[in-house]
Amino acid sequence: MILLDGKKTSFEIKEEIAEEVTKLIARGGKKPHLAAVLVGNNGASITYVNAKVKDCEEVGFDSSLIKLSETISEKELLEEVEKLNSDDAIDGFIVQLPLPKHIDEQKVIMAIDPTKDVDGFHPQNLGKMALNLPTFLPATPMGIMDLLDRYNIETGGKHCVVVGRSHIVGLPASILMGRNSYPGNATVTLTHSRTSNLKEILQTADIIIAALGKPDFITADMVKDGVVIIDVGTTRVVDKSKKSGYKLKGDVDFAGVSKKASYITPVPGGVGPMTRVSLLKNTLITARTK
Ligand code: NAP
Repeated sequence: MILLDGKKTSFEIKEEIAEEVTKLIARGGKKPHLAAVLVGNNGASITYVNAKVKDCEEVGFDSSLIKLSETISEKELLEEVEKLNSDDAIDGFIVQLPLPKHIDEQKVIMAIDPTKDVDGFHPQNLGKMALNLPTFLPATPMGIMDLLDRYNIETGGKHCVVVGRSHIVGLPASILMGRNSYPGNATVTLTHSRTSNLKEILQTADIIIAALGKPDFITADMVKDGVVIIDVGTTRVVDKSKKSGYKLKGDVDFAGVSKKASYITPVPGGVGPMTRVSLLKNTLITARTK
């Protein structure tokens, strides 16, 4: 079994990005600038956004963090998005999800200028992705593709089962795995909570991308020998031995499944770091076009 080390791989990609930034500046270009909008006090969102700002510093990007109150109205948030759309100093920005319940997330995503949508969530960018046109790929699916690529994992002709159909992970990952490219050219089955025979389907999978958010859901009896496992799940479960009081759990029972897998991502240290570095890759793309 080979561990798909997202931490190590993302570090290598960050070094490559930092070198590109140095070259960009040497050519008279400006530092790429990523902005992040954080609404409210969701603990996980604060952690993610702070990590994104730290990543920017590490590769030589400028970053801005726009903190807004939990009680901000949808109209006011849309005005903030508009300001970022028209600010030439900002190459790309993200609005950290989830948003408070009184705000329509889709409306906010639709308001982001697609050329600055480094999360790749705007329908225009998702459409281009589906058509295999150059665009920003959503960060987590892009991180998964990079991990498969860097480990030279064969995907063509393989049966890839994606568990979960969210707009940010499962659905785009299934499209990317089915595209006529590498990684891709897989025969894809997209499954969800209404799939009736999930275990039988999983038992035929060469590659499993698990993104459902249910700790240890996929167990050894559900997979075949030699399977490639990409575990996207990151659920916080109570762990009093940790300073934070919790640990992150994947959707796959690592102890059991790793005995049968040819490749497997750990949680943490697998898909998470790759997601973070994908955002930097997208920001570099926007900065290069300026
Ligand atoms: P989500 O929006 O909650 O979607 C979950 C999906 O799983 C839904 O499509 C749901 O089906 C499906 N599902 C739920 N129970 C199922 C079951 N018993 N069998 C089959 N499918 C089932 O989740 P998400 O935002 O994609 O996140 C999924 C997990 O990935 C979470 O743990 C999240 O924290 C993690 N995540 C990690 C990263 C990272 O960088 N590592 C990034 C994003 C998300 P329905 O559509 O039928 O409801």
